[in-house]
Amino acid sequence: MLKTKPYTFWFVTGSQPLYGEETLIEVADNSKVVVDGLNASGILPFKVEFKEVVTTADSIHQLALDANNSKECAGVITWMHTFSPAKSWIAGLKALQTPLLHFHTQYNRDIPWGSIDMDFMNTNQAAHGDREYGFIGTRLGLGRKVIVGHWKNEDILKQIAAWMNVAIGVKEGTNIRVARFGDNMRNVAVTDGDKIEAQIKFGWTVDYYGIGDLVEEINQVSDEALNALYKEYETMYDLPEAVKEKGDVYESIRYQAKVELALKSFLSKGNYNAFTTNFEDLHGMKQLPGLACQRLMAEGYGFAGEGDWRTAALVRLMKIMSDNKATTFMEDYTYHLEPGNEMILGSHMLEICPTVSATKPKIVVNPLGIGGKEDPARLVFDGQGGDAINASLIELGGRYRLVISEIKAEQPKIETPHLPVAKVLWKPEPNLSEATAAWIYAGGAHHTALSFTVTTEQLVDFAEMTDIEVVVIGKDLNLRQFRNELKWNEAIFR
Ligand code: MN
Repeated sequence: MLKTKPYTFWFVTGSQPLYGEETLIEVADNSKVVVDGLNASGILPFKVEFKEVVTTADSIHQLALDANNSKECAGVITWMHTFSPAKSWIAGLKALQTPLLHFHTQYNRDIPWGSIDMDFMNTNQAAHGDREYGFIGTRLGLGRKVIVGHWKNEDILKQIAAWMNVAIGVKEGTNIRVARFGDNMRNVAVTDGDKIEAQIKFGWTVDYYGIGDLVEEINQVSDEALNALYKEYETMYDLPEAVKEKGDVYESIRYQAKVELALKSFLSKGNYNAFTTNFEDLHGMKQLPGLACQRLMAEGYGFAGEGDWRTAALVRLMKIMSDNKATTFMEDYTYHLEPGNEMILGSHMLEICPTVSATKPKIVVNPLGIGGKEDPARLVFDGQGGDAINASLIELGGRYRLVISEIKAEQPKIETPHLPVAKVLWKPEPNLSEATAAWIYAGGAHHTALSFTVTTEQLVDFAEMTDIEVVVIGKDLNLRQFRNELKWNEAIFR
């Protein structure tokens, strides 16, 4: 599986010199206890490192520059244990380029009713110190996260964990690299776009390759590697009866195995962790990559069909945020419009990631009916049920809008014996009609990244960190209000 680096998060406590050394030592000691507690909780996916108690504008500025410079630091967590006059934070916060969490906590959970005195009040001032600090964040227009609560509270720790995974997605932006095999599908609007802007905004690199470059790699796959991978398929999936005859079906599956090996080799040589294919551009290939794309998605690669590089990058981003759990490329396929039971069936020609599977995937070889190539092998399964989100990142003439639809997925109960693709079934919130009208008003694409793991909150935080528009279609949707929100956002994000 593709791995992200073992990043750390810096913990910085704000104070000021006037308290005297004794208090500052106590503040530092308490901060270390908090950081040790965060690390020992077992809830945070990355390590927190205590840096220092900062008391001057110079030391804060220097710390921000060090954080920017560090390859390991994926974000800074700040806490004002005492009062820290916020003018001393201006230069540092203006310079800071990593995600920022304002952790508004306090050392003690409860008020020590019997012993509380003025010494205690001087040392434990987060309730007002963090408000002074919060003001300057707002005044500077910082896209930071605020989490409020005691540092031992499990719910608070989970919120920090979720934020960390978003910060990693932002930090890893410059490592998201998409290889496009062929261009995007001719005449399609929503999958087109500005690759330079994507790199400026998110750090994503998007490179084009002719399909011949992949064909050359396919031709170099060794029989040894191919046989080993085919054995892996036999242990992981149900294979069709026909493979015993070693005829077309067997050869078709082995061809996808070859494509998988070639893709993986090609992508790793160029440090790519996302890619696109296009059924219109398969010169020299026998099949559209299907099973191969599904297998690579399962390993954490971002993917989207028809050359949709922006969705491929979004899938990779959400795989980073979810540690590759239950996240896939998706397309709104067709509707079930039975009154009171309206649903969307999601799938694609072939390429749905098995991390969302509820059933053991089986390999199927079937005609595609499009693209004029041989029958491709693909994994077929039923998607899991549960709360999930569908996300689409669109471009509106030099700016981005992230559209999120909250959905309730249901594991399919009815067989579809003649539909040879993996499928996920869901009901969008608050209902299909209003949710879909909102999606269309917002300009959301037919391609999405679907995740059972990444939350709305996390994508909203991502949008905040990268300063892009985000709209959420959920159970509180008010369609009239939503249409106005889109108009207001036009003014804000111009
Ligand atoms: Mn498509």
